[in-house]
Amino acid sequence: MKYIKTSLKALNGLLWLLLAVVAMVLWGCGSPSGKPGAGGIAISFDDHFIKEWYELRPLFHKYNAKATFFITCPDSLNAEEVSMLKQLEKEGHEIGFHGTVHAKSTELMAAGGPKGYIEAELETGLRHMNAAGFKPTSYAHPGGNHNDRVDSVLLAKGFTVLRDVAISRRKYKGFQFYAWPPRWMNAIYYPFDGAQQVDALMIDYDEVTGEEVAEAIQEAKENGTAVMVFGHEPLYSAPQNGKYGFNVSFLAAVLREAHKQRLKFYTMSELPKTR
Ligand SMILES: [Zn+2]
Repeated sequence: MKYIKTSLKALNGLLWLLLAVVAMVLWGCGSPSGKPGAGGIAISFDDHFIKEWYELRPLFHKYNAKATFFITCPDSLNAEEVSMLKQLEKEGHEIGFHGTVHAKSTELMAAGGPKGYIEAELETGLRHMNAAGFKPTSYAHPGGNHNDRVDSVLLAKGFTVLRDVAISRRKYKGFQFYAWPPRWMNAIYYPFDGAQQVDALMIDYDEVTGEEVAEAIQEAKENGTAVMVFGHEPLYSAPQNGKYGFNVSFLAAVLREAHKQRLKFYTMSELPKTR
């Protein structure tokens, strides 16, 4: 119970029960088992913070870490950003795609069907990515919004892995309704079963503690799975004006722990290829 923190103390027990059931349905209970010795971590970053991500390179070098960068709005990529992404790619990182306009794919699909969705959210952005020399094979759902139709279009378009969002803490108007320990979130561990639809745990500011991530890393190591985590903008202090971002010192702690536990660093497209 120590992970369940809520301001509505009277409802605590009931909420716990209800949310435990919901979480079990969503994520399952107990970690899956993977491939002995393959235990690892797959870190990804979303949106368009290219310069800020590029500045993390010394940190990646220090721990020999690889990550995946999911780019949205590639029409606005300037020459400097393209060369930064090329350098990241050269150093073993992966460049993935995160939508042309970062829209709600289910709404585009409902309004325009597969054709409308492809035109609005995939083709234009991919053209810009290709023109810049990138051929993304991984996709992160903008806002974690998708459904089976969206997924089937993305898979048909040739993406080999589709990444969704998993959140450990749920808040509403400042109240925290629950905090579900990542070590119990079945879906954030990749068991090397070839699955192409995956979930990553958000590690933005205030989403998860260092202790919880260390436990999740331990879990992945013991079970031979890859724990998947992601964040947005690298921040050096608490986020202002509702920004989405992670604390750089927190990322450093995650990398240090993964390195210490001798976890392998996987890019997202490597996951379904590793059997
Ligand atoms: Zn995004």
